[in-house]
Amino acid sequence: MKEVFGAIEAGGTKFVCAVSTNPNELYDEIRFPTTTPGETIQSCIEYFKMQQGKYLLKSIGIGSFGPLDLRKESSTFGFITKTNKTGWTNTNFLGVLKKELNIPIEIDTDVNAAVLGEYYWGAGKGYSDFLYLTIGTGIGGGAIVNGKLLHGFNHPEMGHILIPHNKDDDNICNFHNDCLEGFASGPAIENHWKQKAELLPPEHIAWDNQADYIAKALMNYMLILAPKRIIIGGGVMDQKQLFPMIRDKVRKYLNNYIQIDEIINNLDEYIVPPKLGNKAGILGAIALAKLSYDNRASAK
Ligand SMILES: [Zn+2]
Repeated sequence: MKEVFGAIEAGGTKFVCAVSTNPNELYDEIRFPTTTPGETIQSCIEYFKMQQGKYLLKSIGIGSFGPLDLRKESSTFGFITKTNKTGWTNTNFLGVLKKELNIPIEIDTDVNAAVLGEYYWGAGKGYSDFLYLTIGTGIGGGAIVNGKLLHGFNHPEMGHILIPHNKDDDNICNFHNDCLEGFASGPAIENHWKQKAELLPPEHIAWDNQADYIAKALMNYMLILAPKRIIIGGGVMDQKQLFPMIRDKVRKYLNNYIQIDEIINNLDEYIVPPKLGNKAGILGAIALAKLSYDNRASAK
């Protein structure tokens, strides 16, 4: 029997389940809408039980919407905690799957899964330390530090760092008055300009404002984490004109403070888009499955 990894991309509107070994070999994939936790998780279980008849399933990775409890010592480890998604608060996601499928399963945030996918197969390949930021409906970020996903007390919340506001921009975050997500997510752009972000023309002043918020955030991340590369993705970053604008502003704000050749002379290669595109979610989950399996193999 062929050995494969399983993957679950758990989103607020849809779930994708797949089996694969690497990005070039997705053997099988299904998608279904996110309904109630009971029904949706049961669909995952049935899918993988069926795959177990065809392949040797080594492990499963889950990249999930959150927030998640990732504290291994917690009694609610692997739960989706207090979420805006109706009916999903306090859902025991990992525990139910483990009980039914009886194989190693690794869970992490969708953002951290994407970080890991880029690390194995995308724009982070070969980088022991890099940062990944996704800017869309919300803003999330993760980092590889010394070749490992950064977790700390739970998982980073890079979208909510404090950033000074421009002019009289309102902040739409429910928790903060001056945070990055509240100024620079897709809905925040719409709130500033009273128009959907994707409808604003590339030369609109909105993008200069947007690049400014992102550049300030990147400067902070760079000074704290010293990443060797920064990858920025998400729907808002489909506006490719943002990349040179962000690089120019990062250069301006840093003012030659970091004397590293890649940053002084080659920001085009330092601040880059992701490589895995719309496969980032499912490949990130495969990457988590692979990580879980490799960790167990090296512990033996
Ligand atoms: Zn916030």
